[in-house]
Amino acid sequence: MSLHRRSTAVSTTYRAGYLQSPAWWARRFVFLIALQQSGSLACVSCTNALTVRAAHLHHLSYGGVVRNPDGSWSAEESDEDLVAMCVECHRAIHDLFDHHKHWHTLGRRGATLHAIAHLRRYRLTADPTKGPHHD
Ligand SMILES: [Zn+2]
Ligand SMILES: [Zn+2]
Repeated sequence: MSLHRRSTAVSTTYRAGYLQSPAWWARRFVFLIALQQSGSLACVSCTNALTVRAAHLHHLSYGGVVRNPDGSWSAEESDEDLVAMCVECHRAIHDLFDHHKHWHTLGRRGATLHAIAHLRRYRLTADPTKGPHHD
């Protein structure tokens, strides 16, 4: 299972390194402030309004995550690579990814759209007052 171990090591580096890096925090701030100024700082999944402080950012692509030769990080994500989410939806989407490994074949962007559709369906059927399902 060297593949699994390797991807775990990479994701540990990503979480402990990249997500704590000044480059990512600056990129995160610029992206969220721009959303706030355009009046669209909301969770892409449940559409609840977010604050810059509370918003989570989910990557649709890791193409802009760059590890420099000196070990530092650069955050070169385009706006299209990032979506804002509330903490609950962000957690739920990663849980869905863990449970539906085959979604990886959709690519990260496709899998995220799939997961958001999944959560919306679930929410509609879980709350009978909010959807067409009364059975
Ligand atoms: Zn949400
Ligand atoms: Zn995420």
